[in-house]
Amino acid sequence: MFKLPELGYSFDALEPHIDGLTMEIHHDKHHGAYVEKLNDALKGHDDLLKMDIVELITNLSKVPENIRTTVRNNGGGHANHSFFWTIMSPDGGGEPSGEFAVSLNKAFGSLGDFKGKFKEIALSRFGSGWAWLCYHHGKLHLCSTPNQDSAVMEDKSHAPLLGLDVWEHAYYLKYQNRRADYVDAWWNVVNWKQVEKYFGMLTAG
Ligand code: MN
Repeated sequence: MFKLPELGYSFDALEPHIDGLTMEIHHDKHHGAYVEKLNDALKGHDDLLKMDIVELITNLSKVPENIRTTVRNNGGGHANHSFFWTIMSPDGGGEPSGEFAVSLNKAFGSLGDFKGKFKEIALSRFGSGWAWLCYHHGKLHLCSTPNQDSAVMEDKSHAPLLGLDVWEHAYYLKYQNRRADYVDAWWNVVNWKQVEKYFGMLTAG
């Protein structure tokens, strides 16, 4: 069975940038429902229930056709949100450092240029989806996905370093239609230390 992970900080810890009620509904209700529906769909499929969530969503051809869309949407939702909570922190914001910062500057020119490009991707995603920074064949790479698709579902060699949920449920209570303001505010809670850790794991050795 898949399990809803702990948030790791309190619901209101990211205020004023992301409000506590949004975080509570987002984690407990939205993410909770993805996990519940995923487990329901996979009842009786013990081999699939044993898989790691990323393994499952990158092997959808092994999932029976009659539950494949449900597993894609809810499995993607579980993977994406589990990742999303880890790259935010009440001690977030500021600037990245180390090898990751060097690579970011090399790929995009500066942190400011990177943020601008990332924002473009987040704003140009029509409807619901995600904006991503991935490590891809030794390079930093931007992309976006629709619905609850993960960047790894678009390409198995995409390794997510940073992902932003641009579903309205992530920001509507505080920002309503102003997705751009949500993106701007989000940089204040980005956990660069964790992003640097993910980058380090991918580039080690
Ligand atoms: Mn969400």
